[in-house]
Amino acid sequence: MTLPPDQKLYEGKAKQVYATEAADEIIIHYKDDATAFNGVKKAQIADKGVINCKLSAFLMEKVAAAGVPTAFVRQVSPRDQLCKKVEIIPVELVVRNVVAGSLAKRLGIAEGQRLSRPLLEHFYKSDALNDPQINEECAVILGYARAWELQAMREYSLVVNDLLRAFWGDLGVDLVDFKLEFGRYKGAVVLADEITPDGSRLWERGTGRHLDKDVFRRDLGDLSDTYRELYQRVFGERL
Ligand code: UDP
Repeated sequence: MTLPPDQKLYEGKAKQVYATEAADEIIIHYKDDATAFNGVKKAQIADKGVINCKLSAFLMEKVAAAGVPTAFVRQVSPRDQLCKKVEIIPVELVVRNVVAGSLAKRLGIAEGQRLSRPLLEHFYKSDALNDPQINEECAVILGYARAWELQAMREYSLVVNDLLRAFWGDLGVDLVDFKLEFGRYKGAVVLADEITPDGSRLWERGTGRHLDKDVFRRDLGDLSDTYRELYQRVFGERL
């Protein structure tokens, strides 16, 4: 699908956003670019855009079926999705089931400890500041989100966690943590952005092998092969 360059509204690290004829809909185009450490490390990962576009579309449909409103409308080409145009709420929600990443680093604990219940953390969405952690009170007082919006985001995140944990678990994969972004659409809070291994930690059950973007962040192997393996687990065929 060729998208008109003059309709491009925004270009992010892994995706581009285009206007459509409908004022309340956009096209999200998935690129093959991978970045880590806030854009300091960069690479092209063959077919990452195709894999993430299809995976996210597939998972967003499951999430919607479970009662969580989403911005996703439908996939329109291998790299493109039609989505509702939302106003992104600048508070990212991270759901954790197992200690890893920034939590392990911040508190000086080893990765791999299972948490007794899902832990929700909030981060202020700001590339300039490297997405600092923020608490709910601060987010509300500074006007980044309303209290009821954060409440909805937290409830939806736990529903998504239950669904994704079961989904990946059936495929022999442990869902360690993941990041969600939400938006405002016609007065309601909806799940936006993507659900992909770019924003999740997925560890192979039994071996603990990383099946997510940490392969790239930590130089653990070939990210394209890793994402192809994940694709095969989900869709039962090789890309
Ligand atoms: N994450 C993300 N975007 C970010 C920061 C984190 O998608 O800007 C995801 C990350 O892939 C992981 C989860 O959120 O699945 C928790 O990340 P963490 O806070 O541990 O940060 P990291 O160690 O990845 O910097």
